[in-house]
Parts: sequence; structure tokens; C-alpha cells
Amino acid sequence: MSDQTESAVREIALVSTGGTIEMTTGSKGLVIAGGINHHLFDGDVIPANVRVTQIKFSSIPSPHMTPGIMRELCLRLEELATVGKYDGIVVTHGTDTLEESAFLADIYLKEQIPVVFTAAMRSSVEMGVDGPRNLRGALLVAANPEVHKLGVTVVLNDEIHAAGRVTKTYTSNVSSFASPGYGPLGFVDQDRILLQRIPLWRLHLPPGELSMNVNVGLVRIASGFGAREIRFSADCEDKGLVIEAFGRGNVPVDVALAVEYAVGKGTVVCITSRCYVGRVLGVYDYSGGGIDLEQKGAIFAGDMQGHKLRLLLMACVGMKMNRQEISELLKGL
Ligand code: ASP
Repeated sequence: MSDQTESAVREIALVSTGGTIEMTTGSKGLVIAGGINHHLFDGDVIPANVRVTQIKFSSIPSPHMTPGIMRELCLRLEELATVGKYDGIVVTHGTDTLEESAFLADIYLKEQIPVVFTAAMRSSVEMGVDGPRNLRGALLVAANPEVHKLGVTVVLNDEIHAAGRVTKTYTSNVSSFASPGYGPLGFVDQDRILLQRIPLWRLHLPPGELSMNVNVGLVRIASGFGAREIRFSADCEDKGLVIEAFGRGNVPVDVALAVEYAVGKGTVVCITSRCYVGRVLGVYDYSGGGIDLEQKGAIFAGDMQGHKLRLLLMACVGMKMNRQEISELLKGL
């Protein structure tokens, strides 16, 4: 591995997985072009002190990503992080599920070297293309010897975000990626990385072989809605179930009874909120309130986004953690 003086060459592995950053116009709309488009490297995209090794992992739109593929990606990233050849890794990914892949990598990898995800909201043939600029930002961040301490990061639109917090907020705008309630960790400004804050705590999976159990459901509660879906999940013998409850972690009465049913059937039920920001906590003592849900055996999971919590639960169940161990892991949230 190269030494860490500013002028030393930094070896970066550029792992491509697909997404709009690899797309061009087909007969009816945007399609995958089959690998990173060479136009992406036009101009000053690769910083002067960076040497890039391209590694094609996959070439798919990110809605085609599955937890199984994400697991494979994590294992590949671990291999690259430990081989001793690279100073950092950049992963290009579709924006739709980028935050999920980045989150799984964040809770699994051991922070040896920077791992930075990036993407493009616009393809290489659209006006105001953002891919090259995002890639340059990500390469600069991955080349910075301090960045591994932040865990896995996501760089788009000149902002650096924590994988655990970032989410796609806008369907089409280049300023889509944000970390509601937390803000970015820092910024890319020309050739400089301006780090503003470090996440003080992050979730980590226990050591062991990463394994994802696909039998974990996700139900978002709405007024008068959710009980049937929870019972269905339990009857399908799901091992885990994430519920995006109202506010502080409350649900309608029939949903609470369905939670009790699922817990009784051995499903590990975790509660998060459908609010964008803030923790769930058992503070309401009515039927379906948080206290009732806790008494019925549900685990409260802080302020995690439901789709990320589901990945975590898939890994916990896949790695054979029991209910008590999962509850301990989520207690710090
Ligand atoms: N649908 C695309 C994908 O996630 C969106 C993108 O990459 O921006 O693959």
C-alpha cells in the first residue's frame, strides 16, 4: 500500500455495479450500456494523485439488486479492502437502492480503508450530466487517508454522507441524497475534502460469516392498515419482521394484536417509525401504544429507516443471532 503523504499516489479500486451512471439512451428510454462508459473519465475526473483499477462486479439497474447480491458485493469489498493493494475503494451503483448496499457494507466491513459509494441521477447522454463530477468527488474522498474512520460513505453532488443515515429524497433532482436530521459529514470543494463531523456511533454486525435470511418482512402502517400483512408474514413463517409504526412507535389496536400473534409464532418483530427523523420509544400506555408493543414482545429500534433495519435483521437472523442478542444490538439506538 502506498504511504500516506498527500502527494503519494493513491491506489483506488473502482468497483462498478450498474445504475444510471452506466446508462445511455435506448429506443424507448434509458438502458444499461454494459459497463462504465469511457466518457465518465473525460476531462479531469481522475485526480492527479489517484490511480484507478476498474473492477466490474455487475452491470444492473439497482432495482435488480437483491440482499443476496448485496452480500456478494460486501464479500468482494472485504476482499479488496484486505488484499493490501488498495488505499481506497469507490463503488458505482444505481441510486434507487444505493443506500441499502452502502448500509450493509457499513455494518459489515471493518473500516480498513475508505469505501465510498457514488452514482449519477442523470445518464451520460443527458444535459447537465452529474456522473463525472460525482465520480471525481468519490475518488477524492476515497483517496483521503482519514476517511475510513467515518465508515462507509456516500458521495454525490459535492456532499459526503454516512451510509447509515443517507437516503434518496428526490426522484430526479441531482441534490437528491440527504441525511435528514443529521446532515452531511462534509463536502467536496474543488480538490479539497472538508470534513465537518464524524459519526460517534455506528452499528456493527458481530464477527462471523455474512449470511442473509430472506424471510424477513417489512410492513408500513397506515390508518386502519397493517394487521392483515403482519399476520400474513407470520403465517409465512418469516423469521423477522420490521414494522414502520406511527410517530414514537404506536399502532392501531388490531395491529398490536397481530404483533402479539407474530411474536407468539417466533417472528422477531422490530419497530421503527414512518417519521423521517427521530427515535421510537415506548412512552404511550394505551392499547397499540409503544409500551403495549414492548409488552407484547416487539423490539424498539431507535431511529433506523425501515428498509435498512430490514437488511440488518436479515443479517442478524441469517447469522443465527437470537431475539435477545438482536435486542442487545439494537439497544444502543
Ligand atoms: N433506476 C436507476 C437505478 O437505480 C436510478 C439511478 O441509478 O439513478 O439503477
